[in-house]
Amino acid sequence: MSKLGKFYITTPIYYVNDKPHIGHAYTTIAADVLARWHRLKGDMVFFLTGTDEHGEKVAAAAEKAGQTPKQFADSVVSTYITAWKRLEVGYDGFIRTTDPNHAKAVQDFVNKMVDNGDVYKGKYEGWYCVSDESFWTDLQLKDGKCPECGREVKKVKEDSYFFRLSKYQDALLDFYKENPDFLSPRYRANEIINRVKDGLKDVSISRTAIKWAVPFPGDAQHWVYVWVDALINYISALGWPGGENYKAYWPADVHLIGKEINWFHSVIWPAMLLSANLPLPKKVFSHGWWTAEGQKMSKSRGNFVNPLDIADRYSVDALRYFLIRELPLGDDGDFSEKALIARINGELVADLGNLIYRILTLAERFAGEFRGSPELEPKLDISKIESKMDDLDTFGALNDIWGFIREANKYVNEKEVWKLSGDELSNALYNLLEACRIISILISPFMPETSSKINAQLGIGPGTLNDCRFGRFKGRIKKGEYLFKKVEQKA
Ligand SMILES: [Zn+2]
Repeated sequence: MSKLGKFYITTPIYYVNDKPHIGHAYTTIAADVLARWHRLKGDMVFFLTGTDEHGEKVAAAAEKAGQTPKQFADSVVSTYITAWKRLEVGYDGFIRTTDPNHAKAVQDFVNKMVDNGDVYKGKYEGWYCVSDESFWTDLQLKDGKCPECGREVKKVKEDSYFFRLSKYQDALLDFYKENPDFLSPRYRANEIINRVKDGLKDVSISRTAIKWAVPFPGDAQHWVYVWVDALINYISALGWPGGENYKAYWPADVHLIGKEINWFHSVIWPAMLLSANLPLPKKVFSHGWWTAEGQKMSKSRGNFVNPLDIADRYSVDALRYFLIRELPLGDDGDFSEKALIARINGELVADLGNLIYRILTLAERFAGEFRGSPELEPKLDISKIESKMDDLDTFGALNDIWGFIREANKYVNEKEVWKLSGDELSNALYNLLEACRIISILISPFMPETSSKINAQLGIGPGTLNDCRFGRFKGRIKKGEYLFKKVEQKA
C-alpha cells in the first residue's frame, strides 16, 4: 500500500456561455471518482472545479439577455452548481474567474512574467469572426474558416502584449523528458513533443477590444487575454501566492482536461509557470470525446446530451457508472441509451443488485453467527486496483472490481448456498457478507449513493481502503429494496 499523501485534482473551468452537458459531466465525474478514491486512501484531497466567466462571448450573451455580464454569469454558474450537486460531485473548491482575489492573482502573475523579462509589446495579427465576435489563431481555424460557426473570418491587427513562449522550448522539452508521466495518456505525448520541437511562437496575452476581462497591470488600454486569466485559476483558487491551501496542495497532481485544450495545459501553462518561477503540475491528463448516438454533438445539431435528464430517467449512479465503465479515460466514446440500458440490466441489476439481494435474503433468515475462513478473499487483488487508480485507469479498476462481484456470484452458485445449513451456511454467508462490505467500499468513489444503500442494508458505516480485508463481519442486516430496477426496452 502506498504511503499517504496529498492529492490535488482539477477540472477545466467551464465557459459560462453554455449549460452543462454530458462532456462537462464526464470530466467532472471522472475527477470526482479520483478525488473520492484518494479520500478512501486517507490522502489529503483538494478537488477544484469552477467557471470561466470572462470574454466577448459572455459579454455578448449577457447583452442579448438584457443583463450585465456578471448577472448573466451568476445565473449560468448556479446551473453548474445545481448540476454537480445532483450528480453527487463533491468538490472542495469552486473558482469563478470573476472572484476579486482571482483578478488580483492574475495581475500578480502577469507582473512576475514581466519582471522576468518575458513580456513585450507588439502587434497581434489574427482572425476575427464577426458573427461570434471571437478571435482565432491560425491553428484554431478549420479549413480557413471560423471553427465555431464555419463562417468567413477576417484578418485583424491590434496592439498586444506578448509572452516569450519561444524562450521555453528547450526547458519544456527537458521537462517532458525528465517527467515522462506529465503528458498523459502517453499515446498523446508525441503529438505535443513534436509540435514543441517544431518551434514555439510567442503568444498574445492581452486584448484591447475585449473589455469583459481582468485589466492588464500597468496599461489601462489592455485587458488580460481570457486564456491566460483562465489558466491561473489553478493557483488563485488555492490562495496563491500566500494562501495555506497553495502551500499544502500545489503543484497539482492532475489537471484533468479534454484533449481540445491539451496545448494550453501541456505547453502554455507550464511555460507560464516557468516564467513565474513556480513549480509545475505533475500530470496533465487529456481525456477523449463523446459522441451522442453515433453523432458528433454540436450546437447546429442541437444534440447535446443533458446529464440531468439521464440521471432523472435512470439514476445518478447509473450515469456515473456508465461514463466510467464504457471506456478508458483517454479514449473517445459514444453515448447511447441502448448501451446504457444494457449495462444497467446486465451489470447493475444482474451482477451487483442480484448479489446483494440474494445474500441479504439468506443472511436475514439465518439465526446463527457469521463465521468461517476467508475463502473469497484471494479472488480480490486490492493492490492491483489501487495501482490502476493511481495511473488514472478508472476503467481498468472498475473492471477488476466487477470481476470480484462476479466471483462472489459464482461462489453463491457453485456452493449452492441456498441449500446449505449450519456451519457450512455460516461460513458461506460470512464470506459473502465480507465480500459485499468490501465491494461497497470499492464502488463508493464510482457510485456513492449505491454504496450508502448497501451499507444501510448491511448495517455498517462507510469504510476506508484499509478496511478492504476480510475480518469479522459486524453488521446488523436489514434487507432493503433492490438496488437497481431492470429497464424494459422499447421494442
Ligand atoms: Zn464564427
